Amino acid sequence: MKAIIGPRFYGKCLQSGCVQAFARRLIAWQRRHGRRGLPWQGTRDPYRVWLAEVMLQQTRVETVVPYYRRFVARFPDFAALARAPLDEVLALWSGLGYYARARHLHAAARLVANSPSGRFPQSAAALERLPGVGRSTAAAIAVFAFGERAAILDGNVRRVLARHFGVQDGRAQWRLAQTLLPVRGIETYTQALMDLGATVCRRADPACVRCPVARSCRARREGRVAELPAPRARPKVSRQQASWLVLLEGRRVLLEKRPPAGLWGGLWCFPDLGRNARTRPASGVPTGPALEKRIAQHLCRTLGCELLRIERMPSFVHAFTHLRLEVQPWLCRVRVSRAMPVGGGRRWFGLRRALAAALPAPVRRVLLALRSQKAPQGTSAASARWRTSTRQSRPNASARRSARYTERCRPPVQPIATVT
Ligand code: SF4
Repeated sequence: MKAIIGPRFYGKCLQSGCVQAFARRLIAWQRRHGRRGLPWQGTRDPYRVWLAEVMLQQTRVETVVPYYRRFVARFPDFAALARAPLDEVLALWSGLGYYARARHLHAAARLVANSPSGRFPQSAAALERLPGVGRSTAAAIAVFAFGERAAILDGNVRRVLARHFGVQDGRAQWRLAQTLLPVRGIETYTQALMDLGATVCRRADPACVRCPVARSCRARREGRVAELPAPRARPKVSRQQASWLVLLEGRRVLLEKRPPAGLWGGLWCFPDLGRNARTRPASGVPTGPALEKRIAQHLCRTLGCELLRIERMPSFVHAFTHLRLEVQPWLCRVRVSRAMPVGGGRRWFGLRRALAAALPAPVRRVLLALRSQKAPQGTSAASARWRTSTRQSRPNASARRSARYTERCRPPVQPIATVT
């Protein structure tokens, strides 16, 4: 395999004047072919630019547009965002993923609102001190809001520089990105880089025939487009199992708020019977009556509920970049037998109100399935079975067994799968 191309090449390139040509061609291309009409374009309001840049981190433009519109309609400026409770912010963010971004936005808005000047930071260096704003995001905000000559280097731009100049080292890329900045037209140039990376110099199947800088592209000339940039080591993906208790009393469902930090921090989820790393084979996990017994005990002990009936919903997998979460939801029809213990952030919601809360996408899907009485995922056969079982009103044998367990339950209860 050929050695990875080092910074020597772009040293020659700088001398040959192709740096100016690179920016000039990109600017000309952006004016004719760049993306236009996006709701965050055409404004210099730093709040809106900041909001868009944060939403666009690791998320596609098409996905962001409706979220951005709703967010701006509800929180038109950072003062409105700072006044809002975090719960409401997370509810509007619900489904967009990477929820730390929403928590950071909210924290940053409060930081600005409570600062002595009460003004939004006016430079890339100052923006970088806000929670959730990295070097590239700060630069993008400073470019579009204040016209500052600052270099961005997100994943798309890294790919363009790696292919076009053959530079892959992180520090060298920052130096190169800084060197490439044009004297005039910084906004158009920055937008062009973003557009080129997203629509032409794509990770898979780049459209080199449409590329405005194809003539000077080193990877293309050397037939190495497919191998640049060299793939980064993938983060190790761990596996976890979760058994969600979908507690239904009439049309009310029990949700609990997750701790502020960590996975789905601050969002409303179903109580989880055991969300632990899978460290032993699936055969070690209790099933059937043993599982129902544990569920009934757990309900009785912690939630003040009497289990009337339990139904297994189709399981599904939710994939994060670093985690594969295998979820088994259990639909538990219950009667509230005593006051729910104080604390734990649990609350009964009507289905409609639950759907308006701050929810992770898979919880929302389960709730939507409940509302329409359809299985959330799984095979059609499994869905059909689940639909059939939900139509039965008479408690079955397992429910009667569970009810007996409910009366006899004693703490403590172990989670279904335990870390060993
Ligand atoms: S020619 Fe192809 S590989 Fe090179 S910058 Fe353009 S799109 Fe990317």
